[in-house]
Amino acid sequence: MSKNVSKMNKIIIVAMLGFFLFLSCKNETKSETSTNMSENPLLTEWDTPFGVPPFDKIKSEDYMPAIREAIKVHKKEIDVIVNNTEEANFKNTIEALETSGLLLSKISSAFSSVNSANTNDVLKEAKKIISPELTAHRDDIRLNADLFKRIKTVYEQKDTLTLSAEELYLLEETYKNYIRAGVNLEGENKERLKEINKRLSELSTNFGDNLLDETNNFELHVSDKKDLGPMSSGLLASSLEESKKRGNDSGWSFTLQRPSINPFLQTSPNREFREKLFQGYALRGNNNNENDNKAIVIEMTSLRVEKATLLGYKSHADYVLSKNMSQNPEAVYEFMEKLWPSALTMAKNDRAALAEMMKNEGVTGDFNASDWRYYVEKIRAERYNFNEDETRPYFEFTAVREGAFMLADKLFGMKFKEMPDAPKWHEDQQVFEVLEADGTHIGVLYMDFFTRESKRGGAWMNELRMQSNIDGFVTPIVTNNFNFPPPTKDTPSLLSFREAQTLFHEFGHALHGLLSDVKYGSLSGTNVPRDFVEFPSQVMENWMSEPEVLALYAKHYKTGEVIPAEMIEKMNAANSFNEGFRTVEYMAAAYLDMKWHSLTKATDKDVNTFEKEAMDKIGLIDEILPRYRSTYYAHIFSGGYSSGYYSYLWSEVLDADTFAEFKKTGDIFNPELAKKYREMLASGGSKSGKDLYKDFLGRNPEIGPLLKKKGFE
Ligand SMILES: [Zn+2]
Repeated sequence: MSKNVSKMNKIIIVAMLGFFLFLSCKNETKSETSTNMSENPLLTEWDTPFGVPPFDKIKSEDYMPAIREAIKVHKKEIDVIVNNTEEANFKNTIEALETSGLLLSKISSAFSSVNSANTNDVLKEAKKIISPELTAHRDDIRLNADLFKRIKTVYEQKDTLTLSAEELYLLEETYKNYIRAGVNLEGENKERLKEINKRLSELSTNFGDNLLDETNNFELHVSDKKDLGPMSSGLLASSLEESKKRGNDSGWSFTLQRPSINPFLQTSPNREFREKLFQGYALRGNNNNENDNKAIVIEMTSLRVEKATLLGYKSHADYVLSKNMSQNPEAVYEFMEKLWPSALTMAKNDRAALAEMMKNEGVTGDFNASDWRYYVEKIRAERYNFNEDETRPYFEFTAVREGAFMLADKLFGMKFKEMPDAPKWHEDQQVFEVLEADGTHIGVLYMDFFTRESKRGGAWMNELRMQSNIDGFVTPIVTNNFNFPPPTKDTPSLLSFREAQTLFHEFGHALHGLLSDVKYGSLSGTNVPRDFVEFPSQVMENWMSEPEVLALYAKHYKTGEVIPAEMIEKMNAANSFNEGFRTVEYMAAAYLDMKWHSLTKATDKDVNTFEKEAMDKIGLIDEILPRYRSTYYAHIFSGGYSSGYYSYLWSEVLDADTFAEFKKTGDIFNPELAKKYREMLASGGSKSGKDLYKDFLGRNPEIGPLLKKKGFE
């Protein structure tokens, strides 16, 4: 929860709906519709530019009946595959499965996108009801023994079939995925697994809803301007607006939304207020009220270990990681051990400097977690003569967006053309047609920039339609979502450096989806192992801060002046301070995730005790909290990152290594390397993570560049 927005906001909703990712707009199966169904815009032909969802016509009430109808259609498609009297073969079974459920995919993708970015009571209620139904539907397919028999028949012939590499990979993945889902379980065990899946899906929705309510309910009201410190005019204006919105006659209101909390903790000289806001954040879901998440955490972690055991794994982490590049928990712990001691030492040194500064200011009492960000900024100002707010005017959000577009042009020759009339889910959205240099259509990119109560926290990318090429090329439609400060009456949205970095990050995920060029949707774009998926996004963060790239876009919003080289130097120097904190905060959360999910049986401890013991064990210092504490750890309890939060760091090995390779050539836009990199993106998930990397650089990844980048060498 520092200014380090980048890491904490890297959520990508690839798999909210599990395997319903085979998207198409063209050849979907027509549904048998009842009278009112025929008027449901989700179920009629999407007569829109490039087949984007008709968001302008869809009402919140339309989603649930449309999803239910699409489930029925999908069931019939599955029945056709299962009841086929022909002997099972690749086309009538594996490929037929791949092309089934397209209607459901496209509707449920639109639903989950809107529900994350612009929710309301109707959508929230619909999600509560429909998520368990979708889980049950998915189980009906994945646990269908007759269907699996056909898959197995094809799988057992795999060495004698003449399949392309991608077809063979699809066959192997399909086979493995059904086993992982539990298709070999029988009787009671199979029923129990279905119950567990359904319950986990309910709990995960409840966790997210509680968190959103806890975040929105909190308010810190400040009436005396001296308690604000040297706050930016943008934040002053937005907290004034917030205060009015919340019914106050005067003063400023601060919330737990990121654009509000971080700058407040950095600038307010009022220690008591900082503590209040900090605790408001740190205790979300842990207040023993109706939004408390503790019981949910306990129930979810025990159900997960029960499920893993049923499926023959030691722990949930063993189950999840067997699908990742890392393979098992031991490898993850071993990897983290390479970085943790250096990061912790660095953070301890920083703590000493910060505490001393506080003491020198005459403040008595212990230096604590809510003081950290305030004194970091003071040291930055003192040691580096740097104030983050000085840089904001150079990172106006439109300029940063243009910077990301220019980078894609430099590397891959891509062009972006705004589609002002495209249907949107919110008026603030911007929609772009994405093109090759020669004008060939690549896909569509939806961007939604500003924070609002209807949007969940963080930043993420998801796909409205996956690329595929079975009976003709289906182009991708992807979205990028952020929680940037909205513009006020007088000021445009000015981003911090970290926020600008987040924009490039999510844009990197978008490119991964957009540049995909494979046959099967389920193997396209970002459908790669979780510990590989952050590589194409994080690598963009390397480019965005290069002076050469900054010169392209970081221009003062009033004067157009390029950010001065001297300011970049100061910024880089100042940003390198506190690196220990950022790594420790992140890694503590990664350890916490691993600890919860390495359980081999349900814990008998309460959440706070479990968490404290886990953190004591790694030697975390009191002045730093894990980036997410258990009760607001949405990545692992309402996102898809359980036993996967370490992935950012794992992927960072790949991105640091890759960027070092570009640097080595003396040209950060090296066309040859960029071409090879694009080929890797184009392969989507049609190979293992290891093979993707090896085919790209001709070798395995090396950790050296990351250690160097972090100053750990
Ligand atoms: Zn990401």
